[in-house]
Amino acid sequence: MDTLFVVPPRAPFKAEPQGLGTWQRQRLSSYLVDVASAARVRPQAILNSYVDWRTSKAKERFGKDMRLDLINGIGRSARMWVSAVSPLVGREDLEDLTLLPLAHGFGEARGVMSKRRRWCPQCLHDDVAKGGYPYERLLWSISYVTVCPLHQTRLVSACPKCGISQLSELSRHTQSGFCGACKSWLGRKQSGGNAVDCQTALGAYEIWVARDFANLLALDRASAALLSRDKAIGVLPVVIATAYRGNRTELCRHAQFSKITVGGWLQGRSLPTLGALVRLSWVLQIPMRSLLAGDKDVAATIARSEVSTAFLSSKTRRKTRRNCDWAQIERNLRESIDSDQPYESWGAAACAQGFRPSPLRARFPELAARIRDAGLQRRREAADARQLARARAFEDATVQCMRELIRRRFYPGQVNVRHALRERGFCSDWIAETKVCASVRSRLAAELSTLGRCAAVHGRGTNRNRNRNAR
Ligand SMILES: [Zn+2]
Ligand SMILES: [Zn+2]
Repeated sequence: MDTLFVVPPRAPFKAEPQGLGTWQRQRLSSYLVDVASAARVRPQAILNSYVDWRTSKAKERFGKDMRLDLINGIGRSARMWVSAVSPLVGREDLEDLTLLPLAHGFGEARGVMSKRRRWCPQCLHDDVAKGGYPYERLLWSISYVTVCPLHQTRLVSACPKCGISQLSELSRHTQSGFCGACKSWLGRKQSGGNAVDCQTALGAYEIWVARDFANLLALDRASAALLSRDKAIGVLPVVIATAYRGNRTELCRHAQFSKITVGGWLQGRSLPTLGALVRLSWVLQIPMRSLLAGDKDVAATIARSEVSTAFLSSKTRRKTRRNCDWAQIERNLRESIDSDQPYESWGAAACAQGFRPSPLRARFPELAARIRDAGLQRRREAADARQLARARAFEDATVQCMRELIRRRFYPGQVNVRHALRERGFCSDWIAETKVCASVRSRLAAELSTLGRCAAVHGRGTNRNRNRNAR
């Protein structure tokens, strides 16, 4: 006799990278999670057993002791991952899921990659709402980018449910868009109130930088290869002549660069770091894309911008910070802890005072810890409230479905109820549904008794009976 049960072959190591060719391109580490998920293996299995990973030390395992944040970056680590994984998935465009195409324009930059896994909850929500799979963007890995250029809300690095922040999504239990610790969904519809205030100088700067990098990621590989820091320096004399009336010192003062630094660039002794390019782009209000392409036409037509640089850290800035009203800042921070609306995180608290988180933490370590805990507590309470609201909505829908079935003289068995709930857009796991169904059924005992014996049609039989009745 022939075998009746055919075991389907395991999926090959293939998955289509998402957002390729756009600024919303997926990052390599997120793509690897999808590849593993499609092949029904853990990411570690791919990393340890399936790729040809040449290490200098014998028996050293793939990815061991490696900075996972650098996988998507511009350096040697990214190059090794791309060349190791490409044969497995049979693709030659994995480089586009990293910053490697922009390596020439960025130079040997350090600190480009964010050390934490970050995401825009609204982007993840929209992925699913549009009927697609959620995925994590390369843009979110760039440390300079702190807000989503599309939704203008701050990127998030802590799970809203458990508060844990991960280094990378390449861990055993992570799925794209889900927390690796508690497995909660990280997407969320956000209200307009969460948007960064573009009226403030810091908010406008953050949105500028996010869009600047998004525009760079929108470039194809050939255009990205044409960018270089030499070209950016080439436009500086034009900018100084037009926007600063030929006065180099004026540019140095506005952008908070030392005269020696700018002199070094112009005389070809050094090249600007990526941080300096980001600052130049903001101060001159020339997109990095034009700056790195050496677009002299754009440079020749710009006027001196009046944008603020007060929030950028620099040596001159540190001197002026001595005159800060520290007592007032401390009062603000303390008041927030006792208020019923504490800051969502230490990052948000520091930002509201016009500081970056680490220097302010160094001054107020105890307050930083308390604000972090208060924010975590607030996020947990919000998550619990959301869960409760979901449970209530599910129960109400179950009651309505059961009443409807009883009205149509059908027994509200779990399969029938589940089917009706799905039609209303509600979905839950079988065990949770069983509990809710049992409790609602006991609440509706009086209405159930009106069904009598003849109409008491159970479980899977119902559809069959319904079809028979229809005939
Ligand atoms: Zn977004
Ligand atoms: Zn979590």
